[in-house]
Amino acid sequence: MSIELDQAELELFRDNVRRFVQSEIVPQYEQWERGGIMPRQVWNQLGEAGLLCVDLPQAYGGACAPFDFSMVVAEEFGRAGCGALGGSLAVHSDIVAHYILNAGTEEQKSNYLPKMASGEMVGAIAMTEPGAGSDLQGIRTSAKREGDHYVINGSKTFITNGQHCDLVVVAAKTDPTVSGSKGTSLFIVASDCPGFQRGRNLDKIGCHSADTSELFFQDVRVPQSALLGELHRGFFVLMNELQRERLSLAVMAVAAAEGALAQTIAYVKERKAFGKAIAEFQNTRFKIAEMQTDIRVHKAFVKECMERFARKALDVASVSMAKLGCTEMQGRVVDGCLQLFGGYGYMTEYPISRAYVDARVQRIYGGTSEIMKEIISREALK
Ligand SMILES: Cc1cc2nc3c(=O)[nH]c(=O)nc-3n(C[C@H](O)[C@H](O)[C@H](O)COP(=O)(O)OP(=O)(O)OC[C@H]3O[C@@H](n4cnc5c(N)ncnc54)[C@H](O)[C@@H]3O)c2cc1C
Repeated sequence: MSIELDQAELELFRDNVRRFVQSEIVPQYEQWERGGIMPRQVWNQLGEAGLLCVDLPQAYGGACAPFDFSMVVAEEFGRAGCGALGGSLAVHSDIVAHYILNAGTEEQKSNYLPKMASGEMVGAIAMTEPGAGSDLQGIRTSAKREGDHYVINGSKTFITNGQHCDLVVVAAKTDPTVSGSKGTSLFIVASDCPGFQRGRNLDKIGCHSADTSELFFQDVRVPQSALLGELHRGFFVLMNELQRERLSLAVMAVAAAEGALAQTIAYVKERKAFGKAIAEFQNTRFKIAEMQTDIRVHKAFVKECMERFARKALDVASVSMAKLGCTEMQGRVVDGCLQLFGGYGYMTEYPISRAYVDARVQRIYGGTSEIMKEIISREALK
């Protein structure tokens, strides 16, 4: 297929996603945000619309589309100011599904992936614990072998899709005698397993309609077939999936910044002060120019990273730069945009206020900005 045809198909797909977001999501979004969670059936709607796990092979329910198509979904939710839903989708389609696709057995792939693509099952990934976030090597959740089962004990926190999930990829220590990244394994735990319990839906400052929860595992018995990837090699799987995870966050950051700037441009043309539109003040024009430039420069780097990812040539330091640079840029842009709204920007009825609070978490999850700097500097100084 020619590059032009690929591009035309991508834009057609983007158009469909945009129309779906505008007709099915945006009109209800405010209500879901106020309610603190979106309804479970939204996942089924997303599946029916073909927006989940789009780049999985057809044999597993996907459309076998290139990676860019999945990023278009992330972009369009981000651009529309639906960051909560964009984040939940990225966990489901770009993280959990790809852990299973790339590390799973044939049985795991055919059991879970088609149901994830249709929205019948929602995926979550549970790494973070109350005592271990950035330092994942410090996790204490354990999985002990008993006959042909593993028995999982421990607790996780801040888990996206924690209330809605039907399956959770859980990181657990399988060999407590070794330290560091060794001795950790991943397990697929179904939410109906006895001993699995969800905590409450956590109160957050933003992304309210995304459910984020503590998860508890008390003597949860899973068969050996629940092991995802090799025993004691969970960090190996995690490392292999980092590029995609961080790239999707960078893509969403750029799109969310574009969406925030578009609303701001419309506003400054309308709003008047001292007898003229605030767009006419030099400060406004310069701020808009700075933000536009900030977005464009980061977008170009993300594009380069996406091309390298497609060629399997994207290194961890570069994708960490994309995550660091784009999420920090998103923070700067939404802050600058909110300022141009004046007092109205501080009012929750103006979507720019949501863009502002939703952006904040981007510098924290998927590896904090400080951890990104550690990774980048380690490579630069080696
Ligand atoms: C809304 C939301 C959704 C999330 N979803 C998920 C999910 O689905 N699954 C999941 O497993 N986790 C999830 N997380 C957890 C997220 O990945 C962690 O919060 C993040 O990795 C940081 O860990 P922490 O909160 O324990 O902070 P800490 O690790 O305690 O860090 C606190 C501060 O110390 C800094 N710091 C830590 N180590 C270093 C260092 N070596 N050098 C310099 N500074 C350092 C950090 O950058 C940060 O500023 C989510 C978090 C949030 C807020």
